[in-house]
Amino acid sequence: MAGLTVDEVRARVEADWDRIVEVLRRKIALQSVSAKGITADHMKRSAEFVAEELRLVGVDAKVVQASNEDGTPGAWEVIGSRMVSPDAPTVLLYAHHDVQPVPDPAEWDTDPFVGTEIDGRLYGRGSADDGGGIAIHSGALKALGDDLKVNIKVFIEGEEEMGSPSFIPFISAHKDEFDSDVIIVADSGNWSAEIPSLTTSLRGNTCVDVTVRGLKHPVHSGQYGGPILDSNTLAAMLIASLYDENGDIAVPGIAAQEPVGGLQQDVDEAGVRADAGVVDGYVLAGSGSLASRLWTKPSLTVIGFDAHPVDGSFNVIAPETRFRLSLRTAPSQRPEEAQDALAEFLLSHAPFGAEIEVTKLENGMGWAMDPDAVATKDALEAMEETFGVKPINQGQGGSIPFIPELQRLFPSAQVLVTGPEDPKANAHSPNESISLYGLKHNVITEALLLDKLGR
Ligand SMILES: [Zn+2]
Repeated sequence: MAGLTVDEVRARVEADWDRIVEVLRRKIALQSVSAKGITADHMKRSAEFVAEELRLVGVDAKVVQASNEDGTPGAWEVIGSRMVSPDAPTVLLYAHHDVQPVPDPAEWDTDPFVGTEIDGRLYGRGSADDGGGIAIHSGALKALGDDLKVNIKVFIEGEEEMGSPSFIPFISAHKDEFDSDVIIVADSGNWSAEIPSLTTSLRGNTCVDVTVRGLKHPVHSGQYGGPILDSNTLAAMLIASLYDENGDIAVPGIAAQEPVGGLQQDVDEAGVRADAGVVDGYVLAGSGSLASRLWTKPSLTVIGFDAHPVDGSFNVIAPETRFRLSLRTAPSQRPEEAQDALAEFLLSHAPFGAEIEVTKLENGMGWAMDPDAVATKDALEAMEETFGVKPINQGQGGSIPFIPELQRLFPSAQVLVTGPEDPKANAHSPNESISLYGLKHNVITEALLLDKLGR
């Protein structure tokens, strides 16, 4: 079955372009800040706006209030569907309609809640994250119109920026309405406005609390210092033992992997150094591509350390030190497994036979795209046809917790993570914006992808 050409789709998106940007402007004006109350009226209005816009592009959409695990009312969600044939594949389109707060409008160059176009970018809170996702889905469905050859289900969430507390109960209660062959999560972004990307992986995370004890009580450092090391030093030795001389994690059982889908282009070191504010002489730790170190290899961070403050310190050998280790795990490793390996290593590497206690804390699963899935190949093809350049896969070092959850609840679905952002988008920060060039090309790409999935 012959599909639409990229030029046909492009012409349709061009014809619809003013409407797409207007949807985004109106969405920005709604001030859908979920931090001001997930269940509040302004969030319901935001959901109703999105449902109405989806109805205008053929989706039978409605607003439903979720319930939290404890039965209390949750977020205002938008769900809907457009079924074309029981034999056609089904695609779930995801975005979220809530936005990050604006703590200080004075940090913005424009009014955060008035969509303002400057130099090819539309500024405003939620212009990219994730009003852009809503605009992409709306534009793609409009472009396909009656040529749509896949069944569509839609979930536009109302509490993503609050960590999705009612996400699991809501999805579980509406499993049939979300069950699909392909899930397109339009909440991430591209390599740049001109170079498209699939987000190929997310790291998982886990934490442990560690207590190192060398003494039953504090003693004087003049009397006992020498043979008896303080617990801060013992803790430092224990932490250092987790690394090899290159700065790679040297704990057997904590997995590392290479970028999922292959590495087309490494991350620019100068950019990372500048963005992170690395001091001049600092040598980046670890080995292998910078992309693998940032996205798919594990990383350890001491995020808490209880020690006596410097001010008011005196000549005592500390008996006991407690610290919290945060471990970002390789996308495909179960975090429980990495946590067990970490705990085992810590317990068996006590410096000078100190007492070690490890308390295991919560785990969050990572996620890795299936590079061989049909939907993945169709998406990469649609991107290249639309943008005219080869996509560059990119992973994310952090987590988007609902994506592994979606994959867990729908294990056979092919999940694609796309989105409206680019490195200049400033999502979650002042002066958030979306590239209008990028948005238009994302709309065309998604329409083309849906068309390919229907063949
Ligand atoms: Zn988002």
